[in-house]
Amino acid sequence: MPKTHIVIAGIEKVIPSMTDLALFWPLLATFGTGQRITSYSTIITGPKQPGETDGPEEMYVLLLDNGRTNMLANEKTREALYCIRCGACLNACPVYKNIGGHTYNTTYSGPIGSVITPHLKPMKEWKHLSHASSLCGNCTEVCAVKINLHELLLENRHEAQQAGYAPLPKL
Ligand code: SF4
Repeated sequence: MPKTHIVIAGIEKVIPSMTDLALFWPLLATFGTGQRITSYSTIITGPKQPGETDGPEEMYVLLLDNGRTNMLANEKTREALYCIRCGACLNACPVYKNIGGHTYNTTYSGPIGSVITPHLKPMKEWKHLSHASSLCGNCTEVCAVKINLHELLLENRHEAQQAGYAPLPKL
């Protein structure tokens, strides 16, 4: 381990208690890779304690807001914060399956990326992602935590239009 361990995570990554891992850990594994438990999860409980031989000497956890409390305040978009980043919606999305993740040019790709990115970055520049969808609903159907993804893509389009970023064409 490094001497100083710094964790950077969005505020939505916090779960009520260690006990809740009994639900979230297998949920992530099953919907992400089809396994009962993932091989890429690690439990770290803090810095090395007196008498312990392994672990960092110092540990810091930085919780990022970066637009997330705005999503929380929005009754329609807050459910997107339930996401556990399992990736099931990406694998089910016909657009993602054809263009891949890099094309979205942002940290979070696929249906959930198209939903949350315009709220984590300026809507004006990222509203186009909400149109990267056929609205087939595959993403909503497979979502591990039942986020209404295709409806939220429509909500983003609505919010962009209301904000004057996507004016309707003049006939
Ligand atoms: S939106 Fe649902 S399916 Fe997509 S990554 Fe998040 S939890 Fe998984």
